[in-house]
Amino acid sequence: MCGIVGYIGKKYNALNVLIEGLERLEYRGYDSAGIAYIDNNKLNIIKEKGKIKNLKSKINFDIKSNLGIGHTRWATHGIANKENSHPHKVGKITIVHNGIIENYEQLKENLKNSVNFKSETDTEVACALLNKLYEETNNMNETLIMFQKQVKGAYAMGIICDDDYNTMYAIKNKSPLIIGTGKDENYIASDVPAILKFTNKYIILDDGEFAKINSDEITCYKGNNIIKKEEKIFEGTAEDIEKNGYEHFMLKEINEQPEVFKKTVSEYISNGIDSLIEKMPDFSKYKNIKIVACGSAMHAGCIGKNLIEEFANIPVDVEIASEFRYKKLFIDKETLVILISQSGETADTLAALEIAKEKGCDTLGIINVYGSSIARNSDVVLYTKAGSEIAVATTKAYFAQVALLSLIALKIANSNNLVKSDELKEILSEMRNLPIKIQNLLDRKNEFKNIAEKIYKNNDIFFIGRDVDYSLSMEGSLKLKEISYINSQAYAAGELKHGTISLIEDGTPVISIVTKESIAEKTISNIKEVKSRGANVILVTTEKLDKQSDFYDYKIVVPNTHKLLQPLLAIVPLQLLSYEIAKLRDCNIDKPKNLAKSVTVE
Ligand code: GLU
Repeated sequence: MCGIVGYIGKKYNALNVLIEGLERLEYRGYDSAGIAYIDNNKLNIIKEKGKIKNLKSKINFDIKSNLGIGHTRWATHGIANKENSHPHKVGKITIVHNGIIENYEQLKENLKNSVNFKSETDTEVACALLNKLYEETNNMNETLIMFQKQVKGAYAMGIICDDDYNTMYAIKNKSPLIIGTGKDENYIASDVPAILKFTNKYIILDDGEFAKINSDEITCYKGNNIIKKEEKIFEGTAEDIEKNGYEHFMLKEINEQPEVFKKTVSEYISNGIDSLIEKMPDFSKYKNIKIVACGSAMHAGCIGKNLIEEFANIPVDVEIASEFRYKKLFIDKETLVILISQSGETADTLAALEIAKEKGCDTLGIINVYGSSIARNSDVVLYTKAGSEIAVATTKAYFAQVALLSLIALKIANSNNLVKSDELKEILSEMRNLPIKIQNLLDRKNEFKNIAEKIYKNNDIFFIGRDVDYSLSMEGSLKLKEISYINSQAYAAGELKHGTISLIEDGTPVISIVTKESIAEKTISNIKEVKSRGANVILVTTEKLDKQSDFYDYKIVVPNTHKLLQPLLAIVPLQLLSYEIAKLRDCNIDKPKNLAKSVTVE
């Protein structure tokens, strides 16, 4: 999950490019950071535990360097300390690595007599292997080809060899890596935004490939063969990844949701239902759907299940990708497998995609990052139009996933003649009104802040709801725990009394979601059960279901809309509530501890 960056050229000082790039990549991990750079024909390494700012304070930017590689780490093997930080150097080889070398123990065993390992990382073992192969061949291309044969696992690497300070090497398998191109200067990075300040042109390196990169030339290889790669242009701007005056990226991203909705929806219904039919794939041949994802994307999938089953009448299962991979699967050609991932690089989801393909299923990716691995390998890809998401805790990308899943539900329902024309008209008109309604909720930030002030000191907070409100509860609870470190659990409202209700004490906050009319009364009964045991109830409901009563302490009322779209409104106060609570607890909102944004390890 680490971020890597590299630069070769004379236009900029490598040190500035590396630090700028690492700052952009810090969302991928922040256990430690380090750089290796050439100064006066000598390789230097600086690394520090913790955030990039610690590393930055140790760098003398007066030095002008033409070649360097950098790393920000999310530790997988070995604790977060200076010794385990990248870059690692063994003999003549220096590397930065994102991924996991699965057979590192075996390789370490073979190398241990000749190498004095300084760290506990799998990366240092890979570096030692590269060095040994280079000692044997004295040729970097041969070294990299042999390395690919001996190493199992995921790796995106930037490599410098002491015998040639005019070249940087890059190699990739399963972890993301792009090569940024410029005039007499080239880059490597885990993603394009990391180098967007310098260039928007890039090449995607694919699995099993490696590249020899000089300042004026890039040669990509697959084995001994030189391969031609297409140069692409990144559409976004550097501004897309600035905070634009917001205190945190998370707040900025929550506030972008009206625009994200417009973009996601206008892509598919610019011309009403006709364009939806034309632009969405044909789902008619599938008897069932599996949605496979991790974290918030999985929670978006749960809402997708609720909506598709209710409106389109097709059975949908939601699977956690890391479970799906290892279980017995009952899927076939009549199953559509939908993979959801913001980054399109989530390792478990990517592996699930491969399994689904092996089983002969059609695959559909719901992905935010263009050209990412899952996007490239799915049979069909529907892009969410959320733009770059920087805050580690997702908001707008989750939101766009839910929006897209509602469109899929609508498309299938329409093809199965399950939506009457009046209802269709209502849905399409509500879609036009939704950005204003979302904005209305965003403008009520202070109302949510006031509630946050009442509950932020609690160390246990529950979320309850039924059906789609339960799916919303799961995401609300995850958002809260990931950024505020409050122990929070989401429960199907009817399930609480089967055990968990024993945890409810005087004043325990229970955020209770009641937006679905058909089950509102049932959930309200469950709310009354916790209220009578002392819970501090925060009710989230709709204008239509709102009523004066004494079963809640605080109330958040979201605007009405068609039930296909209601989750998109109900999630907004939950996001803002988490944000305000985390802020009151003085947490690092954009970079919560132990987390990283794009989980490219299993
Ligand atoms: N496995 C390497 C380490 O722990 C890289 C981790 C990663 O890419 O997440 O240092």
